Amino acid sequence: MKITEIKTAEVPIIVDGRRRYLYHYVRIYTDQGIYGTGEASHVDGGWRGSTQTMAQQLIGQDPRDVDACFEGIRRSYIFRGGMAGLGISALTGLEIALWDLAGKAQGVPVYRLLGGKFRDRVRLYVDSAMTNCQERAEEARSKGFTAIKFDLDDAGNPHKADAWNWSVTPGELEIMVDQAHAIREAVGPHMDLAIDLHGRYDATAGMKIAHELEDLNLMWLEEPVPPENIQAMANITHSTKTPICAGENAYLRYGFREIIEKQAVDIIMPDISKCGGLSECRKIANMAETYYIPFAPHNNSSALSTVGDAHVCASVPNFLALEFHRFDDPTWNDVVNSDEAVIQDGHVAMTEAPGLGVELNEEFLQSMLEDGEPLWQ
Ligand code: MG
Repeated sequence: MKITEIKTAEVPIIVDGRRRYLYHYVRIYTDQGIYGTGEASHVDGGWRGSTQTMAQQLIGQDPRDVDACFEGIRRSYIFRGGMAGLGISALTGLEIALWDLAGKAQGVPVYRLLGGKFRDRVRLYVDSAMTNCQERAEEARSKGFTAIKFDLDDAGNPHKADAWNWSVTPGELEIMVDQAHAIREAVGPHMDLAIDLHGRYDATAGMKIAHELEDLNLMWLEEPVPPENIQAMANITHSTKTPICAGENAYLRYGFREIIEKQAVDIIMPDISKCGGLSECRKIANMAETYYIPFAPHNNSSALSTVGDAHVCASVPNFLALEFHRFDDPTWNDVVNSDEAVIQDGHVAMTEAPGLGVELNEEFLQSMLEDGEPLWQ
């Protein structure tokens, strides 16, 4: 089997006349009539050019040699973004498409090629902005979700000292702590609860906030400080009972090595469709497992990649929960052809369908484009 052609699709999702999301898909075609589809996340306008440039290296290769195809491109890109950022995210979209193809070529679901599954269904948690927490928690619970996350960082906090420094004033801290307690009360004691700070505090502020939230039995506190300085994150993690989670802006095994070795976080959250793909994230989860660190991937992707993520989550023992970012999106399930909703009872069920197990709903995606614009280019 040989790769013959690669095409990309960039699709805005319009809801109520407003562009809400922008999805980036890549499709790899072969000389045997089967194709695989992948998705890249958190990319910009340069994604299409990067993907098409990388794709030239894949023409003529056997798509079932997924890791070799990936590593060949990664090494050739070391001088142009092969360590982190857009280059890796574009490569990730290709990697996911290769896995879809490899599974279809052998008539098995991708998790079978990743070593098989530890679980039949993958638990999702609802990511929610600061909203009516009680209503949101009840809605999530009624749909079968057992975990939820709210944002606590607030640039509009009236007690903020400065728009640029990342300190926390006593008044600001008091409001945050009160809000966090109100969230726990609204959510109830038995739902897993995470709180995200988006890396918007300095080391002292991050530590103060983590200490003040210790009695809330959080599933985790996310990114109390920015992600670049791993030692600063480790200092907070080692100083508090509050579990700390980070990793959505790290790339590849190499980007997670120091985080894991220093036990700089209690939980890691790679973004699977951004930071290296299915094989790479399974390896990251395996590295974390040797330190008994749970794996809770970040996910801001469409239904296609969410199902792709689920294959990795099913294939590792230390999986905790996978993010679901689209609780309010009425089009979320329309992106794929699926008789049933992809998410049921707060979980993605693993099936025996070959490859990723879902296909894009091209009619729906085409309807989001301007008249005459081809979906695949
Ligand atoms: Mg986050």
